[in-house]
Amino acid sequence: MLRLLKRQMTLATVSGIPVRVDHRWILVLILMTAITAASIQSLNQHLFGSIILGLAATCLFFLSIFLHEYAHAVVAKIEGLRVVEIVLHPFGGLARFAHPPETARTEFRVAIAGPAASFALALLFAGFVAVSTYLKTDILTLILFLLSLTNLLVAIFNLLPGYPLDGGRVLRAYLWKQGRDLNEATILTGRCGQVISIGMIVLGLVLALVQGEYFMGLWAVIIGAFLLDSATAIIREVGSEENIRVDSVMMLPVPVSSDLTVQRFIDEVLPMHRRTVFTVAAGDRFMGMLILEDVKAIPSDRWRAMTLQDAMRKHASEHFVRIENSVADARSLIESNGIGTVAVVSDDGRLVGSISAGNLRKHA
Ligand SMILES: [Zn+2]
Repeated sequence: MLRLLKRQMTLATVSGIPVRVDHRWILVLILMTAITAASIQSLNQHLFGSIILGLAATCLFFLSIFLHEYAHAVVAKIEGLRVVEIVLHPFGGLARFAHPPETARTEFRVAIAGPAASFALALLFAGFVAVSTYLKTDILTLILFLLSLTNLLVAIFNLLPGYPLDGGRVLRAYLWKQGRDLNEATILTGRCGQVISIGMIVLGLVLALVQGEYFMGLWAVIIGAFLLDSATAIIREVGSEENIRVDSVMMLPVPVSSDLTVQRFIDEVLPMHRRTVFTVAAGDRFMGMLILEDVKAIPSDRWRAMTLQDAMRKHASEHFVRIENSVADARSLIESNGIGTVAVVSDDGRLVGSISAGNLRKHA
């Protein structure tokens, strides 16, 4: 049942980015419509009309959440990150990137864009409230007021310092820049996320059981449950990966020799292997990483003379893990080295495999 509710569906594709929701959104849709309809009902005696207006307001709220995420995606694009998908959650959702931000500064800019958009929407709806109060349209004023308030709450809630909320992302980037291990920073901020979500659930229970605010209470509980689920999954993922060695998830290396010319690489290797990063070896010795983007930048008249030795990035510590390292170590490098792939090297320097972000997802 839970598995079915968690299955995702694609709502729309905006600028090539799929926007997904999971089936738990149906609960949120019904609940939010009920909350808004109940408020409208107090001003308007027609039940059906109240439900329709409640549904319209809820759709505007969903649109606001989407704009929050879209703001993340737009800034991410400006910062040179590729957005794979946007998954909407009632508390704001997640924009997933092909590679996580490389610097704390980028992470900060991308993270802050969402709450900034929500603040702007809260102000916009507040402006509409002023106009509609002037026009003395009670129901419209109420709906606009609720939209302004919910956007403000989304902005503030997302600034709380618990991963995967936006505030938690900033804190994680900060801890990482302060010299903490990325996995450690993820677990620490994920724990903050768990504490915040339990706080939301308790707040919801108090609202419902003590104050009699059933709908608002249930809403807080649902948001808390969503967040708790995401934070717990992230911690579990990193935690379990600390106990798994890289050799259980790595792919065998594609044999790419450093004395191969760029021309032969393009003619013979590339058609056989659809990858964006290749590990280069001399004999079985790991030499460096060949990045397809770099190859594309080489003028074609140099392809015959140039060898991969000159086209690759020479091996550096962020390009490889040792075979006895954990999957968590590999993940932390993959997320931070900017090429989304690491080589796996044996104790005596032999290239034995490679791991990319895609392998980790399949493994998780
Ligand atoms: Zn956000």
